[in-house]
Amino acid sequence: MKISKLFGQEKLTMSIEVFPPKTDTLFESVKEATEEIAKLKPAFMSVTYGAGGGTSKYTLEIAKNLQKTYGVPALAHLTCVSSSKETVVRQIAAIKKAGIENVMALRGDIPAEHVHEDRSHWDYRYATDLVRDLKAMGDFCIGGACYPEIHPDSDNQKNDILHLKEKVDAGCEFLTTQMFFDNHLLYNFLYKIREAGITVPVFPGIMPITNANQIDRALKLSGSYVPQRFKSLVDKFGGDPAAMKQAGIAYATDQIIDLYANGIRNVHLYSMNKPEVAQKIMENLSDILK
Ligand code: FAD
Repeated sequence: MKISKLFGQEKLTMSIEVFPPKTDTLFESVKEATEEIAKLKPAFMSVTYGAGGGTSKYTLEIAKNLQKTYGVPALAHLTCVSSSKETVVRQIAAIKKAGIENVMALRGDIPAEHVHEDRSHWDYRYATDLVRDLKAMGDFCIGGACYPEIHPDSDNQKNDILHLKEKVDAGCEFLTTQMFFDNHLLYNFLYKIREAGITVPVFPGIMPITNANQIDRALKLSGSYVPQRFKSLVDKFGGDPAAMKQAGIAYATDQIIDLYANGIRNVHLYSMNKPEVAQKIMENLSDILK
């Protein structure tokens, strides 16, 4: 099923992100975790591609399994920066062959050793280049990433939104946001992109922070602003794993309820491959998602 089928529906839905294992030995346990999450019957599941030091080897295998065995539509992530055209074309063909109809087109982070290099001759410089190739090579529903708090490479939000518009105009049908911990940042961003003529659905990405160690890493990766309300919660419960988990789930649940109450129809949950966290959040929202 194409994710575009969800567009315009009144029903509230939740989709969930998982990531493939970093090593071969972890494959079975990660596969099992993704299957437990699939049993919750989210609207769709996205599977990352080499993000945060992970591998890209198992993205398709996991996506295919979720779709075929559990009937959950899969969204395969694909990055392009520092890849050759040949590699990307081969990967797009493999996605098609696996029966995956939805692709999240990403640039990916620029490897540290290339940051100061002249990249003008690279096959792919931006996600928009990949969107164009996906459009030309298959009948995919294409998604893209967006950043309510600005992408770190951008000098200012105006330019970031201009480039986002180019990505959408190239064929991106929906956008998923970077994590954020203050919903007002999202509402403000939505206002600005609508004003800039970007009309595609935006799926807010919510990351439940369930242990104190996760916080530094998550914030380093995303650069997200942390409201005092959230800081107080970590100060109070950070040293007690069970209490921190409960408080983190409650905070994420609260964010999601506020998003639904303000007109959002699908929320994307960054599950960190934790079925029990995804399950608890869906339980908390059971009457809302009914
Ligand atoms: P782009 O859309 O290309 O934007 C990158 C920067 O380039 C922005 O600052 C933009 O304003 C600028 N830009 C765009 N076009 C132009 C132009 N023509 N001229 C000048 N500047 C321009 N990473 C992974 O490795 N694997 C994953 O699976 C993954 N999944 C993700 C899912 C989501 C929802 C999000 C939000 C991020 C994900 N990432 C993933 C991280 C992502 O790859 C990085 O944030 C990366 O640095 C940017 O990717 P992008 O696709 O947003 O890039």
